[in-house]
Amino acid sequence: MSDPIDLHRRLLTLDSHIDIPWPDGPAFAAETQRRVDLPKMRRGHLACGFFAAYVPQTRRSPEAHEAAYARAIDMLGAIRAMGQAEGARLCRTANDIEAAVRDGATAIVPAVENGHACAGDPARLRQFAALGARYMTLTHTGHNALSDSSNPRADLGDAETEHRGLSEIGRAAIAEMNRLGMVVDISHVSKAAMLQAAALSRTPVVATHSCVRALCDNLRNLDNEQLDVLRDAGGVAQITAVPYFLRPGGRADGVTPADFAAHIDYAVSRIGLAHVGISSDFDGGGGFSGWHDAAESPAITAELARRGYAEAELSALWSGNFLRVLRAAEAAAD
Ligand SMILES: [Zn+2]
Repeated sequence: MSDPIDLHRRLLTLDSHIDIPWPDGPAFAAETQRRVDLPKMRRGHLACGFFAAYVPQTRRSPEAHEAAYARAIDMLGAIRAMGQAEGARLCRTANDIEAAVRDGATAIVPAVENGHACAGDPARLRQFAALGARYMTLTHTGHNALSDSSNPRADLGDAETEHRGLSEIGRAAIAEMNRLGMVVDISHVSKAAMLQAAALSRTPVVATHSCVRALCDNLRNLDNEQLDVLRDAGGVAQITAVPYFLRPGGRADGVTPADFAAHIDYAVSRIGLAHVGISSDFDGGGGFSGWHDAAESPAITAELARRGYAEAELSALWSGNFLRVLRAAEAAAD
């Protein structure tokens, strides 16, 4: 077997979900206490990061929807600014990402987490797309005006289901995302909403940061039926580094790359290598012993290589599959 570090360096490594600090804003170019900053991405040869403009769920009112939209716009601006750092590059398309990495730049791609950000008016997705957001996660924790969440919020008055999946606004939002070339992210949504979104979207849906329910019974994880639907839709399950999604009661100091790789193995054997990928959810709950921060990213390649994945397979897991879905969304855009 070749040296896993050399192997890792040859791969286009793409992490589909990373959070940024807010309201302080990222100090991306400098070494920080965060799990992700540009120096750590460079050291760990993490070539591309999708950074989330994350909006917390609140009670719904016109004022709350305005505030959520304003926050998302500000955060997308901060993520765009990260792409201006020396050695980084703001990217929009799959081709942009590949070109940046070829040129030795770290690729930065914005995204939006929680459709609450556009719940006041789904036409606002146009502004998100114009600022470069390539996917939107339909919900976070708690139902919103678009969709039911996998985790209802009793403190916000949520019943177990509110929309029986997607609302009419949610359906309109998916049509708009398809039109704009944005990918529909079904991480965080209820199972009913996920199945409806996969059927409705004209382009493959993805779970940008979720794990496998058969190995860890958490509501945020994908059960076998959901995995099969993702495969049939042409989508991708981006296994993520949240310790308690990987092992029941899992803690950062007890979970290891082997636990993470077990979820990859399971998903690959269930739905095929072409439908599985890698994410960290760093600075949003992700990180464990051995993949504590972006600088330790080679540990994931090393563990997967040890399990027998060939270089072409690692390339598909680390980015090829996710880039395929991005391209499908781009091709279907109006
Ligand atoms: Zn999340």
